Amino acid sequence: MWSGEAIRAQARFKLTGGKFECVKCSRRYNRKENFRRHIRLECEIDPQFQCYLCLKRFKRKEHLFRHMRLHAKPTNGVTS
Ligand SMILES: [Zn+2]
Ligand SMILES: [Zn+2]
Repeated sequence: MWSGEAIRAQARFKLTGGKFECVKCSRRYNRKENFRRHIRLECEIDPQFQCYLCLKRFKRKEHLFRHMRLHAKPTNGVTS
């Protein structure tokens, strides 16, 4: 009957229409795993990957890598 796990989880989502809704940002997920991934990787984490060239911040490493490729482009043939 008494589950610390459940209480911790309750503090973070509410069930809305059978979906897990994040109490912090109101995003909804069909599956608890997806919700937990959201908490772990997105919601409670400030963007921690920062581009050292333009100081833009990204939540995901892949996004930063993708962004860095823009800087890696040769700048000698400016297309405009
Ligand atoms: Zn959230
Ligand atoms: Zn940048």
